[in-house]
Amino acid sequence: MASFSSIPRATAQRVPVYNHYLKSLQEKGIKRTNSKEISAGVKYDPATVRRDFSFFGELGKRGYGYDVDSLVTFFSGKLEDQKVNKIALIGAGNIGSALVRNNFSSADNLDIVVAFDININNGNKKIINENGTEVSVFDISEFQKISREYGAQIAIITVPEQFAQEIANQVVKAGYKGILNFTAVHLTLPKTVRVKDVDLTREAQTLVYFVNNQDKIKSI
Ligand code: ATP
Repeated sequence: MASFSSIPRATAQRVPVYNHYLKSLQEKGIKRTNSKEISAGVKYDPATVRRDFSFFGELGKRGYGYDVDSLVTFFSGKLEDQKVNKIALIGAGNIGSALVRNNFSSADNLDIVVAFDININNGNKKIINENGTEVSVFDISEFQKISREYGAQIAIITVPEQFAQEIANQVVKAGYKGILNFTAVHLTLPKTVRVKDVDLTREAQTLVYFVNNQDKIKSI
């Protein structure tokens, strides 16, 4: 069976989507499925699904398809194998607080365990997430110390743009392995820290461009 590190990155990124869909089948009591059905459920083309599953070895049986329970066990195990799952959020404003409340509710392996902001009376501010868990918000001045206590390895940055790099530097210093950057700033980071930019304004503008230029784009 392939290890997570030996499969293509794009395939690894689709695993949570497969797992989420398969769990929904499991909840409905469905025992068997096939790549065509999975493809329709997750909205990836059938060839992509078949290719992805081929990286995981003999998960299905010819003429039978896939056993839903076995797939969920397999994918959940793979996701748990990904050790990095505790997340700290910096900048508990509107977007940041919403993320803490939601806590990536469709993913079992992601957990926002702590948040930071400025001018906080330490630990007294709490955000209750969808599971009913209270997440403490600490003052950013306590970041290095509290980060270690919570053992988070991923940081979400939702501070105003002008503070993004300064916060990223602190995140690097605290030994985090990855950053989900919601600001429009291109962060300068060492190679050891991975970053994923989520610039919602740019995404919206790209969409608006395509919507407004649909006729021209089609005719090219
Ligand atoms: P948004 O909708 O983008 O979250 P907002 O109006 O709630 O916007 P912003 O001004 O964008 O708030 O700031 C986001 C959060 O980041 C706020 O809660 C703010 O207090 C916090 N913040 C600002 N500077 C820092 C900093 N240096 N360190 C930590 N948190 C900060």
